[in-house]
Amino acid sequence: MNQTKFFLDEKDLPKQWYNILVDLPSPLKPPLHPVTHKPLGPDDLAPIFPMELIKQEMSPERWIDIPDQVLDIYKIWRPSPLYRALRLEKALDTPARIYYKYEGVSPAGSHKANTAVAQAYFNMKEGVKRISTETGAGQWGSALSLACNYFGIACKVFMVKVSFQQKPYRRSMIQAWGANVVASPSDETESGRAVLKENPDSPGSLGIAISEAVEVAAKNEDTKYSLGSVLNHVCMHQTIVGLEAKKQMEIAGDYPDILIGCVGGGSNFAGLCFPFYPDKFNGRSIRMVAVEPKTCPTLTKGPYAYDYGDIAGLTPLLAMNTLGHSFVPPPIHAGGLRYHGMSPIISKLVKEKLMEPLALNQLEVFDAAILFARTEAIIPAPESAHAIRAAIIEAEKAKLAGEKKVILFNLSGHGHFDMAGYDAFLAGKLKDATFADEQLKKTYDMLKDFPAAE
Ligand SMILES: *Cc1c(COP(=O)(O)O)cnc(C)c1O
Repeated sequence: MNQTKFFLDEKDLPKQWYNILVDLPSPLKPPLHPVTHKPLGPDDLAPIFPMELIKQEMSPERWIDIPDQVLDIYKIWRPSPLYRALRLEKALDTPARIYYKYEGVSPAGSHKANTAVAQAYFNMKEGVKRISTETGAGQWGSALSLACNYFGIACKVFMVKVSFQQKPYRRSMIQAWGANVVASPSDETESGRAVLKENPDSPGSLGIAISEAVEVAAKNEDTKYSLGSVLNHVCMHQTIVGLEAKKQMEIAGDYPDILIGCVGGGSNFAGLCFPFYPDKFNGRSIRMVAVEPKTCPTLTKGPYAYDYGDIAGLTPLLAMNTLGHSFVPPPIHAGGLRYHGMSPIISKLVKEKLMEPLALNQLEVFDAAILFARTEAIIPAPESAHAIRAAIIEAEKAKLAGEKKVILFNLSGHGHFDMAGYDAFLAGKLKDATFADEQLKKTYDMLKDFPAAE
């Protein structure tokens, strides 16, 4: 039997994050002020983010040191394992070698803890007493609660009301690690009260929750706001994933031909791929495939344009692929992939054809999740199962072509809190939803008053 697990010692934990900004073929378009549409300076962001994270967002340094206190917490679950999926390969009867990096070993169950710990640390260093954020299904809220707990920072989570009621266990995790979580819309903010006045039974939305979280940060000197994806510094914190994977692939004696990750805002895909990017830029042939749901086809259908990061229009305008800030995708079980926008860096690299997007249906994704559970044993998050399906597609192509391709994908999290989705799938109740192309007219309408990105 071949080796299937590739572990690194604690002493081999990467000590720096990789900042891809320095190596992009041309600079990113600057973020713009939400009202004046003028390029933003660091001071514009200072009321809601700590200065160190603002610096990282625009940093000209290729490598950024990971502070010792952050490394100490990473060591609770890092380095994370890299596996060779021998049993899946056998089931597919493919000559391809399939590897995956497993981020579900973090206490919060996903890669999101990698940036949560870093963000909590830099806030603590600048004397911030409390961090506010929003969470949909609770993955980000639980990761940030875990992180704030270690640095003695209070954490305030506005959780979309339907999820608060329907997903009580993620809510309990948030509370177990000590954060204060309220259902959004809440009566604690002006934005929340305004919504409740209109509609006391509002189920809430991410847009409303973001407005509440940003309002709390803007109005309180001791409070900052935090985001779990999309932004450059978030993607950079996730590069620990790819940096470890590179070392582990070396131990395995292989080098990937194809890298795959699911994309919501893009951070776990960025984390796996970015550290391999310099090799690709220097001529090595590596494909990088970003997988999204067909119901929220940001990269495959959305235009590259300036848009808000949130539905309320409070965030800066970012140049990215977007379906429009008020686009609300149908409720699929991969809740973490239902975001209208995308990391500006990934958007740019897709535009330059250095990365490629792929959109998949919910049912084929759950099929892949079940095959994976029955071969590799891990029950994947429905988000991560998008990457699994894409890996299977590539392995099947390799079989047809008789090619020994090396495939590496990011298994961004486990699915233990997503069993309602599995339940519906196994009972035959899940359906594929569609994205109607007429929606794009509305998208262009939402964007028409913003400066052009190209
Ligand atoms: C949040 C989440 C995602 C999507 O976020 P990205 O920033 O695109 O990585 C993917 N997988 C899991 C398990 C998540 O919790």
